[in-house]
Amino acid sequence: MNFDPRQSRPAPASLLAFAKDKLDALDAATRRRRFSPTTRKPAGEAARDGRQLVSFSCNDYLGLSHDPRVVRAAQDAAAAYGAGAGASRLVTGDYPLLHQLERRLAALKGTESALVFGSGMLTNIGVIPALIGEGGVIVMDELSHSCIHSGARLSGAQVEIFSHNDAAHAQDILSRHMDAPRKLVITETVFSMDGDRAPLDALYEISRQHDAWLMTDDAHGFGLADMPANPAPLQMGTLSKSLGSYGGYLCAPEPVVDLLTSRARTLIYSTALPPASAGAALAALDIIESEPERCARPLNLARRFTRALDLPGPQSAIAPIILGTEERALEASAALSERGFLVIAIRPPTVPVGAARLRFTFSASHTDDDVERLIEATRKALAP
Ligand SMILES: *Cc1c(COP(=O)(O)O)cnc(C)c1O
Repeated sequence: MNFDPRQSRPAPASLLAFAKDKLDALDAATRRRRFSPTTRKPAGEAARDGRQLVSFSCNDYLGLSHDPRVVRAAQDAAAAYGAGAGASRLVTGDYPLLHQLERRLAALKGTESALVFGSGMLTNIGVIPALIGEGGVIVMDELSHSCIHSGARLSGAQVEIFSHNDAAHAQDILSRHMDAPRKLVITETVFSMDGDRAPLDALYEISRQHDAWLMTDDAHGFGLADMPANPAPLQMGTLSKSLGSYGGYLCAPEPVVDLLTSRARTLIYSTALPPASAGAALAALDIIESEPERCARPLNLARRFTRALDLPGPQSAIAPIILGTEERALEASAALSERGFLVIAIRPPTVPVGAARLRFTFSASHTDDDVERLIEATRKALAP
């Protein structure tokens, strides 16, 4: 069955020209992205380009992706239920671990019910259009993750953007849409590129006043940040970051979960999460519930780093250093790599033009010494 590339038919010239033109434009803007093969290891290490680096770029905030208990649970789940789920959950993919996982997530978030999806991105792209469509209004923070924008656009609802973390602006927009039959307010709990937190209490209150439904994306908060006093009625998140596994979920009232089971296209028309991912997530939840010191560590390490470098105090495990141009961010990243640290440069369009940065993420798997050496290396890398 080996395919001989010499026998391949030539691709349409227009297709090749299209791809090459687009790539040239990306190159010209320093926006072209390339893979960098990386082997992640326990204790926050990553091997790349033949070098051993300590990674401050993973979202594995609690170091659980390599925890032997989590890896073992993934192996056990695969052995019991197979490497793949075999079909969508509504066909034959609804294996028992998914229900255990949903009960655990709902209990942790204080909701009646929960629904697991294939990923966090599939959750946002499935949930938003199933709850709101033409005639509805979505009011979302300008720095919301790309997949929230995608879900919002796919819904066909009118999309209104409020200035970052500006609850008064969100209120202003809502007051102009009093008559809309359905309104959805969306924000992240912890913002992925800046590490700051949303004003959840204020957004909860103005949503309630305007009969809008508040949806929060907890991708970067789960297991790390305290629960808000008034949790949103719609709380989504990912199993892929602090839980060290893969998958996504929505915690919500039971009728909402029941509706999504019949209406969320990314749930209905996509194969269920692999059993290993569900098994790993369950083991990770056990660890999060029993090891509070592990959950507190990433923020404490981020604090130590920002204090030493006179940066603004962190609100999460994420600490950015904004450098401006793509070139400066790439140079700083290369200088840190020379000193043994993997800190990826984040560039537009992931962040606004002129706000290219280094994004440091701290993990419970980092040692105190890792962070002390990172502080020294960052000082030197950024010295003029
Ligand atoms: C990573 C991320 C997602 C997507 O989650 P995946 O499980 O990786 O698909 C969604 N929202 C935010 C804010 C994220 O940072």
